[in-house]
Amino acid sequence: MPSFAIAPPPVVTLAIAGSDQVFPVRRVYCIGRNYAAHAIEMGHDPSREAPFFFQKNPDNLYVGDTFAYPSQSTDVHHEIELVVALKSGGVSIPVDQALDHVWGYGVGLDMTRRDLQAQAKAAGRPWEIGKAFERSGPVSALKPVEMVGHPAAGLIQLKVNGTPRQTGDLNQLIWKVPEMIAYLSDYFELAAGDVIMTGTPSGVGEVHRGDVMDCHIDGVADLSVTVI
Ligand code: MN
Repeated sequence: MPSFAIAPPPVVTLAIAGSDQVFPVRRVYCIGRNYAAHAIEMGHDPSREAPFFFQKNPDNLYVGDTFAYPSQSTDVHHEIELVVALKSGGVSIPVDQALDHVWGYGVGLDMTRRDLQAQAKAAGRPWEIGKAFERSGPVSALKPVEMVGHPAAGLIQLKVNGTPRQTGDLNQLIWKVPEMIAYLSDYFELAAGDVIMTGTPSGVGEVHRGDVMDCHIDGVADLSVTVI
């Protein structure tokens, strides 16, 4: 067994509601334009074209009640999303078996440097600079399937300073959770610890230091995050 040449990076973990255990994160897949009204607000056709994904880095996710306004942007947006945590994976997973791989669910934020993402889009470049920055993904404590089932409908809402900004329903997801898992597994080998951020409803917008973002998904979780 070789020894490490440098100290190994810590395992990234998310909290589990009501438990001393934590959930280790392996990869983070994020789907784009998965609510029709959000696709329209971003200037795209909301028809059911093939889904597309990007990734955040595992260590972009964290448990916390603050979000540090990032560098190099003056237009940072909130995107509330249902978070899916996998307990197992594989390749070419059939849709009707996909939910068997889900460990649990939470609510999270796909915080976005929208100005940098827009520049990347315009130049045909990757999105990491807009999406995969430090502490860009605060996530609530996760809840296991035994506690919350497989939520397929219910209010998903983000308020900023008490005013609703994003309001949708999980039943508006264009690509449903089992479909996302099946689709991803045709392109990547999914595994335990993988996390899927399932897209955001319409109403994305900018935040400023001092804003409080209150996130809620019916029957799943709440998360309150202050921009600092
Ligand atoms: Mn998103």
